[in-house]
Amino acid sequence: MPTEEAGIPGTTPSDIVVIGAGQCAAVAARTLRRRGFDGGIQIIGAEPDLPYQRPPLSKEYLETGDTDGLFLLTEEWCADKDVQLRLGAPVLGLDPASGSVRLADDEVRADAVLIATGGRPRTLPGVGGSRIHTLRTRADADRLRDVLVPGARLVVVGAGFIGSEVAATARARGVDVVIVEALDTPLRRVLGAEMGAVCGSLHRENGVDLVLGETVGAVTEGSAGVTVTTSGGRRIDADAVVVGIGIEPATGLAVDAGITVADGIVVDEHGRTSLPNVFAAGDVASHFHPLVGGHVRTEHFDSANRLSTAAANAMLGRSQPFVDPHWFWSDQYDVNLQYAGHATSWDEIVVRGSLSDVDFCAFFLSGGAVRAVFAAERGGDVLAAKELISRGVPVSPDVLKDEDVDLFELAMEEVA
Ligand SMILES: Cc1cc2nc3c(=O)[nH]c(=O)nc-3n(C[C@H](O)[C@H](O)[C@H](O)COP(=O)(O)OP(=O)(O)OC[C@H]3O[C@@H](n4cnc5c(N)ncnc54)[C@H](O)[C@@H]3O)c2cc1C
Repeated sequence: MPTEEAGIPGTTPSDIVVIGAGQCAAVAARTLRRRGFDGGIQIIGAEPDLPYQRPPLSKEYLETGDTDGLFLLTEEWCADKDVQLRLGAPVLGLDPASGSVRLADDEVRADAVLIATGGRPRTLPGVGGSRIHTLRTRADADRLRDVLVPGARLVVVGAGFIGSEVAATARARGVDVVIVEALDTPLRRVLGAEMGAVCGSLHRENGVDLVLGETVGAVTEGSAGVTVTTSGGRRIDADAVVVGIGIEPATGLAVDAGITVADGIVVDEHGRTSLPNVFAAGDVASHFHPLVGGHVRTEHFDSANRLSTAAANAMLGRSQPFVDPHWFWSDQYDVNLQYAGHATSWDEIVVRGSLSDVDFCAFFLSGGAVRAVFAAERGGDVLAAKELISRGVPVSPDVLKDEDVDLFELAMEEVA
């Protein structure tokens, strides 16, 4: 449901409720107040914490427990801006017709709602216990940090971004790490085999035992530890297991309210759901994106920021759709990795820089234009590549490879 008009019809709401006190909630509240909205804003969150950012949970915060820069809103800011926070208060239901949001002990009136409930980690069927971890919340990170002591043995199930970052942080804390990944390289689904192999080398160079192409057959927990048996018959003894096999979007409230859901809550590029005055953003939302040419659900900090900003603007009748290329980063073993754009298939991958030195930008080309990039230690190239992607600039592999070519200048070239 793409939208092209400059303004968004509708009446400015007087009471806005945000369900979920995470990344989107903080950004939406800030945007609403910055735009001069002087009505009621309530943020209702299931967790007891003030809104905080999750990227440090698998990186600095997991390693050190340092809360510097972790929180997105302070109590002082909320008091000053008259933003009401209700924490430790899961929302149980949403009735768009009557404009009410139901809690265990209260009902809150709202004439616009932003659903920003994120997601819950997937688990392995039948696998649970005190030595089994997932990582989504600050409490999860605190619990996991306690077991990441020098000499401890950790099995990470899944070499996606969260699993890879946990492995890197665990190595930094002197932990022995085995990763078990079902596919033949880490991050295969996002990066393909070639770039996935680069990530695999990074793990191995940093002392991780990487078991590829195998799934977890059985997990047996005892008082002294846990044993993971892989589909290939390998038995791995460990002190703890981290299951990092993705999340399920927390769509339950939307489903119950009759809102269209397909993988995530289906929204347009303004964050509008199938019901008037109900918006969704962040990991829970499957958003229309013009560069994708359809709906996509991402689990990125930047997408959460941009779509919640778009939704806050839309609530006020302003059009600021999320149309920029998707972008995210990951920090692993002191290497900064970044990805921009969206590509599920491509004609070729062109590498600028050196894969072996882990200092490169890889361009995913399709139809003579860059659709996505994956880079190590090349934030500047990624910034320029975002321009190439959004403008659809025709490019040749030789030009992209040439380190003397200024990518920003290339991005500014006229597009026929
Ligand atoms: C460990 C980790 C590391 C990450 N690292 C990166 C990274 O390096 N780069 C990157 O781009 N992205 C990263 N991300 C992803 C990024 O943090 C998310 O995309 C972002 O947090 C999404 O924001 P959100 O507001 O949609 O959800 P969240 O920030 O998850 O907030 C959702 C909140 O809603 C609450 N909630 C759920 N249901 C209810 C309910 N019924 N009632 C009330 N509250 C409810 C939840 O408890 C949660 O607090 C990482 C995520 C994790 C978990």
